[in-house]
Amino acid sequence: MSSDSTLEGWGRRPVPGEEVRGEDLERLTEGAVLTRGLGRSYGDSSLPPPSVRRMPATPLADRVLAFDAETGALRAEAGLSLREISRVFHPRNWSSPVMPGTSHITLGGMVAADVHGKEHHAHGCFGEHVRSLKLRLADDRIVECSRERHADLFRATLGGMGLTGHILEVEFSMCPIDSPWVWGQTRKIADIGEFLERLAEANDRWPYIVGWIDCLTTGTNMGRGVLHCGRWATAEEAPAGTPPEKRKFTVPFEFPQFALNRPFVRMFNWGLYTKQRKLSEGILHPDPFFHPLDAISEWNRIYGPAGFTQYQCVLPTAAGPDAPRRFLELLTRLGGASFLCVIKSCGPEGTGMLSFPTQGTTLALDIAVRPDTQKIVDRLNEALIEMGGRIYLAKDMFTRAEHFRRMEPRLDAFLEVRSRWDPERRLRSAQSVRLMGDPE
Ligand SMILES: Cc1cc2nc3c(=O)[nH]c(=O)nc-3n(C[C@H](O)[C@H](O)[C@H](O)COP(=O)(O)OP(=O)(O)OC[C@H]3O[C@@H](n4cnc5c(N)ncnc54)[C@H](O)[C@@H]3O)c2cc1C
Repeated sequence: MSSDSTLEGWGRRPVPGEEVRGEDLERLTEGAVLTRGLGRSYGDSSLPPPSVRRMPATPLADRVLAFDAETGALRAEAGLSLREISRVFHPRNWSSPVMPGTSHITLGGMVAADVHGKEHHAHGCFGEHVRSLKLRLADDRIVECSRERHADLFRATLGGMGLTGHILEVEFSMCPIDSPWVWGQTRKIADIGEFLERLAEANDRWPYIVGWIDCLTTGTNMGRGVLHCGRWATAEEAPAGTPPEKRKFTVPFEFPQFALNRPFVRMFNWGLYTKQRKLSEGILHPDPFFHPLDAISEWNRIYGPAGFTQYQCVLPTAAGPDAPRRFLELLTRLGGASFLCVIKSCGPEGTGMLSFPTQGTTLALDIAVRPDTQKIVDRLNEALIEMGGRIYLAKDMFTRAEHFRRMEPRLDAFLEVRSRWDPERRLRSAQSVRLMGDPE
């Protein structure tokens, strides 16, 4: 993911820099301005500001420090990955309370982005399950914070993209499960209207819900796609044994720029849609259900040398039932449509001061970087601001500071807490330089 002299996010837009890995996070983070995990954020949130080259990365600091099988409380170092948590705990009938679309992320990254999954409408963000955090602050002190202790620092750190302190240890509540298998249902959806109806219906019945939208089809079929719902299988439904390790494929080389052209994506989407049966249900392996893209290593190479960005926004319920349709129409008009467009429902806003989700619908789509990408993101953001929505910082690389400020009325309160704990704004990233005017 990163060579000796460059660092990049998942969107593959490199900057000069170098990771320093080690098992001793306390030592590693001393004097550092930003820490990164596995670099699965798409944009520039895990990249250093221009004047900084070396930055600590946590994946080798991954020890489980304590687990209470009565309460499900797990304490671990910030570099422990979700993949490892699932591998160790699923067979023991415990799961992470939040399961985002990839398992190749660390606890530190899960807290800093306050990640959400297919269960946001039911379980909220990861931060809702965090009990306590051990942080190294900008002045190098080490403190423990929680809802009771340094509550302002705790709330700003959930979703604060690493700007309030280096996360050294995380204590959170695991979720008991009946089996490590999933019971799932998949349904073909005719258009965006049906999508929104089915999502609303499913919210009351299923803990895990996600939809894939074919966003190249226009007219009456606009927004057609496939809706996946699921829950953990009961002990009676589950097959014997634990789910086997799945085989992985690797994208062998960087695709040329022209490979993901419109006719190809249209054909891909058509294939995906037509092969789907109207309704199917049954037992599923948890990996393809929760993390379908993890089956293909380095799939981000298909976007070619210029890389890509993911535009993820939330359209609040207050924007009206027609907001997702209007947004999709705009997207198709701008020619930004991609073959990966995901739709989910979000529940109410949580504890994190800058956490992304709010009650409404979230759309996430990958856009290959082209000369007009900035223009597309600008237009989408202008429409988003009118609808009262906001973008997800863990995915963003193109939003302008003035747009961010207009979509984020919570920003001043966040900056106030940041100033209290880090008056000189020592802790910063390429993203905070771009969006919050931090020193380079
Ligand atoms: C295929 C794919 C699917 C995804 N699906 C989802 C999804 O469904 N829901 C969702 O919410 N997100 C999703 N994401 C985004 C991902 O979950 C987040 O970007 C997450 O933060 C990445 O974790 P990481 O360990 O790789 O962190 P990095 O990408 O390395 O860093 C992300 C941010 O966390 C900060 N950070 C990391 N570790 C620490 C630490 N120890 N102390 C302080 N700050 C730290 C970094 O500074 C940076 O700001 C997806 C990403 C991919 C590639």
